[in-house]
Amino acid sequence: MARRNILTKEQPALYKKCRPVTEFNPRLHQLLDDMAETLAGENGVGLAAPQVGVLRRAVIVLETNVPEGEEEYLIELINPEIIEATGEQNGAEGCLSVPGEYGLVKRPMHVKVRAQDRNGNTFEVEGDGLTARCFCHEIDHLEGIVFTSKCERMLSEEELEKGEIEQ
Ligand code: ZN
Repeated sequence: MARRNILTKEQPALYKKCRPVTEFNPRLHQLLDDMAETLAGENGVGLAAPQVGVLRRAVIVLETNVPEGEEEYLIELINPEIIEATGEQNGAEGCLSVPGEYGLVKRPMHVKVRAQDRNGNTFEVEGDGLTARCFCHEIDHLEGIVFTSKCERMLSEEELEKGEIEQ
């Protein structure tokens, strides 16, 4: 495994629509493993392939809603689609490609996603709260959408320090 460089918001590749993954081969597995290592190195909760310069529909999301004492775990989503979205949350959102900046973004509170795993098997997974936000944020990346284009407004350092903006 190797850490990969994360593209920042100035780079045009981040604004391109990604193509479906069609080959579930060792190269894809290497990409996913590298993305996991890159995400862990940044203490992030989600990463999309275009953020490491690969314009394919693959994302990873850290499921943080786990029972006390259990480990958080990564969910790999290949060719993901949101098939159900309910409720609403409005809260601070950030991105490893937009370091140090946060904005207020409205997202559904609960989403159901259909995707394929690294071997091409289709599955469905649900996410609530931060996980739902993260699914939406990462899937947006596959459309070339960075959160700054859909946030109500960016947050000031003061607001962030106060920590009043919670989901
Ligand atoms: Zn992002």
